[in-house]
Amino acid sequence: MKIARLDAFQLQWSPSDKPDQRSAFLRVYTDDGRVGIGEASPMRGGVASLAILKHHIASAVIGADPLDHAIIQDRLVHGLVKLGPEGALTGALAALDIALWDLKGKLLGQPIYKLIGGAWHTDLPFYASIGHNGERNVDEVCRVVEQRMKDGPAAVKIRFDNDRTCQDIDIPGDIAKARAVRRLVGEDYPLAFDANNGYSVGGAIRVGRMLEELGYWWFEEPVQHYHVKRMGEVARALDITVSAGEQTYSLAGVADLIEAGVRMVQPDIVKMGGITGLLRCAALCQAHGVELVPHQTQPTIGHMANLHVCAAQLQSTKPCELDDPSSRRHVVFVNPPKPVGGLFHLPDAPGLGLELIDKEIDRLRVATE
Ligand code: CA
Repeated sequence: MKIARLDAFQLQWSPSDKPDQRSAFLRVYTDDGRVGIGEASPMRGGVASLAILKHHIASAVIGADPLDHAIIQDRLVHGLVKLGPEGALTGALAALDIALWDLKGKLLGQPIYKLIGGAWHTDLPFYASIGHNGERNVDEVCRVVEQRMKDGPAAVKIRFDNDRTCQDIDIPGDIAKARAVRRLVGEDYPLAFDANNGYSVGGAIRVGRMLEELGYWWFEEPVQHYHVKRMGEVARALDITVSAGEQTYSLAGVADLIEAGVRMVQPDIVKMGGITGLLRCAALCQAHGVELVPHQTQPTIGHMANLHVCAAQLQSTKPCELDDPSSRRHVVFVNPPKPVGGLFHLPDAPGLGLELIDKEIDRLRVATE
């Protein structure tokens, strides 16, 4: 079996979507008629990753054996290092890796979670990840949390998504929102707080101490992601678990976070390494006694790939992230990845276990160049 062709394309889920809300998918065709599917990071619509797949990766992998996915990835990340190596390049490589694992599963007739050692659980709880709370008032934050609680999440995370060029914009306001949500959900319900890199070290420690008092479960990305030592300083200063890593694109970067003192890391399967990369992160976390709770905001192919890996990990200690519960991105799947009764059920079909509807893909795909 050899790779015969790559089809990298963008999907526009609805005419009213902004270009940033589109998804970047990949189909890898083999010479014996199989097809594997993958997804790149959708940041800015994934356009840059799609271009790298078309212009730099396709010609390099045609004729390769899909089962050599790890060698293909390491060869490409080094060969194309000057295109990145972080962000668009690793997103493109992630899409390729996920598609090759999907092919591997289809060739061997096994779901991916079986190929990587088996699942601890095939019914997986999720947490509701709720963005843009910086721009809401306290009451609006509570209303949106109430709404998402109806889906039966195992936990709720409130994200602030403030202007990344500013720090400590409204610490009293943020604390007021955290307190109001605690009051709303009750004393024991699991909550997380995502600063989206919005604080100085001092501001982060102040907010973190309040979150400890309010019984929050974890405190995510308190300071700028590129200030790895400062992230570690905040983590070491607080009792609450401080998490980071959704903007980390290499295994060495995850190791730096761990060394700095971060005890829960959140690499994203569609941003770094795909399934191969996340498995390497899992080994790193297991070796260091660090929690692996991947970032994942695409309720499509990336989400399912993430579930296969998380289900198989000892260090995957918290529910999986679910950002957008709307079904608009499910129309291209025969069996879309969506929770039932508060749980995602891992399919036991070969590969990712997802089946695309080609007619819907053709209807929604848009030209990117
Ligand atoms: Ca986050």
